Amino acid sequence: RAHLDRIAAVDGDVHAFLHVNQNAEAIAADVDRRRAAGEQLHELAGVPLAVKDVLVTTDMPSTSGSKILEGYMSPYDATVVSRARAAGLVAIGKTNMDEFAMGSSTEHSAYGPTRNPWDLERIPGGSGGGSAAAVAAFEAPLALGSDTGGSIRQPAHVTGTVGMKPTYGGVSRYGAIALASSLDQVGPVTRTVLDSGLLHDVIGGHDVNDSTSLSKAWPSFAAAAREGATGQVLKGLKVGVIKELPDSGFQAGVSQSFRESLALMEAHGAEIVEISAPHFEYGVAAYYLILPAEASSNLAKFDSVRFGMRVIPDGGATVEDVMAATRAAGFGDEVKRRIILGTYALSSGYYDAYYGSAQKVRTLIQQDFNSAFAQVDVIATPTAPTTAFKFGEKVGDPIQMYLNDVATIPANLAGVPGMTLPSGLASDDNLPVGIQFLAPAFEDARLYQVGAALE
Ligand code: GLN
Repeated sequence: RAHLDRIAAVDGDVHAFLHVNQNAEAIAADVDRRRAAGEQLHELAGVPLAVKDVLVTTDMPSTSGSKILEGYMSPYDATVVSRARAAGLVAIGKTNMDEFAMGSSTEHSAYGPTRNPWDLERIPGGSGGGSAAAVAAFEAPLALGSDTGGSIRQPAHVTGTVGMKPTYGGVSRYGAIALASSLDQVGPVTRTVLDSGLLHDVIGGHDVNDSTSLSKAWPSFAAAAREGATGQVLKGLKVGVIKELPDSGFQAGVSQSFRESLALMEAHGAEIVEISAPHFEYGVAAYYLILPAEASSNLAKFDSVRFGMRVIPDGGATVEDVMAATRAAGFGDEVKRRIILGTYALSSGYYDAYYGSAQKVRTLIQQDFNSAFAQVDVIATPTAPTTAFKFGEKVGDPIQMYLNDVATIPANLAGVPGMTLPSGLASDDNLPVGIQFLAPAFEDARLYQVGAALE
């Protein structure tokens, strides 16, 4: 009730939610009944959970921020949602996002932007700005996001929350409306590292419905966070700092906060090691070919026949006329831009030059990570170059928007886990700043230990 009241009080301004679950109280009451009857429930049972609208749900519409899916009801729940429900979590609503998770500000949502609770004139990050804003504004204690190039971590960075992108394959993508299937990962957005671990334990692990799901047994991430909280893990921890990264135009207050965090770690026994990752600087370029290529293919299913909107044009007779009119009316500008970019990159004659080259760069970035992790336990970076920017500042210039992802994209290209946690307020504008940690694939638990140690 308290969270529903909070949503009623602030969401008119924040607009974190596209849909609030009218049954939330009834579901919570049922959890109470079961608990009162002596049933052993999960420790998160009854806790509200905000769900990014990219994740399909049977009891609420799932639009992925797009007009083309307005009002769409899924016949099944995403695996992460069904696992959360099975643990007794209450899906309190669906959160706003850039259309099909393309963007870094939620300005590309077909339903209007979400506002950053720290400053309503500023963006909450993206694509998962709704989930991060909901958590930051105390409208929900926990949220789910998806991260293809930073959409969990960058919103967390600009809203002072914790965002975790698991190892690729660590959390099921079944029921996550695909953006770029080789990069997409679902993960938690929370206020503390322990909360993230608790939620990650619930949603993670093998899923037969996702062919890329890892069949590995994972340790408890909540246990890792509890262990890390003692701070012991920082003693002798080798923290890699990428020497090439600061050249990429970081705001002074962001860099300063980052240096202070490193000094704090050093004071607690960590060793800061300079590493070289010479190909990171090509990450954005490679990503913005691979992602549109995969997205253009994934979005082909919105054909006016199988899902969502159907526009029948005046005098239009053929299936193709209907398809074209539907996609013209249903997709926003950023989605169209990426479909054009992606189909171009995949077209015959250009495939090797664009998509093929980008895949090679991806391999080089993976090799950069391998050699870095031969020297260090984790890599630390500022999560994004700037704090929350103002509405309209970057939306007219796609390249500027894309460059925001410089520090988050490499983890998706390599499939490694990444966590961002609040590192304070920037000295130059008093807005939240995050620090990002990256670990080798499968070592998600290490991020929980280090994150909890610093919190
Ligand atoms: N800013 C990235 C993009 O626009 C984020 C994508 C994501 O993680 N969903 O592609």
